[in-house]
Amino acid sequence: MSDNYEELLRLIVEKSKKSEEEINEMIESKKKKFPVKVSQNGLLHIIANELGVDLIERIPDVLKIKNIEDSMRNVECYGNVISVYPIREFATGKVGNILIGDETGMIRVVFWNEKTEILEKIKPGDVIHIKSAYSRMNQDRVELQVSRYTEVLVNPKGVHVKSVEYEKRKISEISVDDNFVEILGPIVQVYDIKIYERCPKCNKKIENQECQEHGKVEPNNLFIFSFVVDDGTANIRCTFFNDLVEKMIENPLQYKENPIEFSEKRRELIAKMIKVKAKVNYNQSFDRIELNARDFTFDISASEEKEFVSRSNEVKESDDSDVDNKKDKKNKLEKLDKSDKSEKDTQKKTTKNNEKDKKEVEKISLESEDEFDEVLEEDEILDDIESLMEE
Ligand SMILES: [Zn+2]
Repeated sequence: MSDNYEELLRLIVEKSKKSEEEINEMIESKKKKFPVKVSQNGLLHIIANELGVDLIERIPDVLKIKNIEDSMRNVECYGNVISVYPIREFATGKVGNILIGDETGMIRVVFWNEKTEILEKIKPGDVIHIKSAYSRMNQDRVELQVSRYTEVLVNPKGVHVKSVEYEKRKISEISVDDNFVEILGPIVQVYDIKIYERCPKCNKKIENQECQEHGKVEPNNLFIFSFVVDDGTANIRCTFFNDLVEKMIENPLQYKENPIEFSEKRRELIAKMIKVKAKVNYNQSFDRIELNARDFTFDISASEEKEFVSRSNEVKESDDSDVDNKKDKKNKLEKLDKSDKSEKDTQKKTTKNNEKDKKEVEKISLESEDEFDEVLEEDEILDDIESLMEE
């Protein structure tokens, strides 16, 4: 908590909705009531208490992005600019937003009206320093709002912000508490590419290039592509969106007309070693952990491959003997899959019987795929997926 008088006063004014003059008047009348001398700060605390203002709630001055929660005031943070989105104009004003990140996470920053002018000076790769912003929830995610009182500094001198660090993880060790991870292993299951058309004007899901509201349009295509990686400790579903799909599969649009042709590509991908950098995502619909890929490579060095092989052998050997490890693994698997016992059992067996297991994984995944499709029918979920892509 700050003991700066001006800052405390500002906080009381802000939270009590009383003017500075009113608070000063209260201080003066309080002073007269106390026979002993009380410090100015002490008086402020007494008044805050009377007004029901909680000063202890004050957030630390500079926040790491992952610590920004809903309904915070006076947020100060630093971030690297990841994306700058176009400014939209309405009858009543303008809004624009950017995505920023530090080593702990990413957050969307929303600029309103005259503050959108700042956006013209911002480009990806810039460092920004934000002071006195406030946070709020929007579609289940916390955003930072730039208001009239917010100060935004672009590329402040001598400031370097770390970017996201992807931690190398065995798949069995990935938990909901992880943020960004890197995994390595063979692809064991590949799903069809999903291609959805969106109206470029209203962004709603459309079919046959026809929007109910805007008629015939040239659609924006949304590509979604998922596969399962198994590193010997467990398996996990990875999902690629748009650019990443195009990086992995040349001209994905060709499979829209001929999904059968995709089986050739599928055969090519199965059993291929891949390294994926991703954000850990908890899929609520299925109560399991998945990865939203940020980047990938098939370029695995000999030493990485060697490390991978010895690591997965190690896991196989210790699987039955090491009780702690087993317990730990069980806890994580429980987190991974609380409801579906059979799936959990399947995952437990992953290391023991690979051949049989692959089939089971396939089965489970196919079931999920159907559900996934159903879920995708909802426009809301599509919006959700779009936001996942941007995260
Ligand atoms: Zn439309």
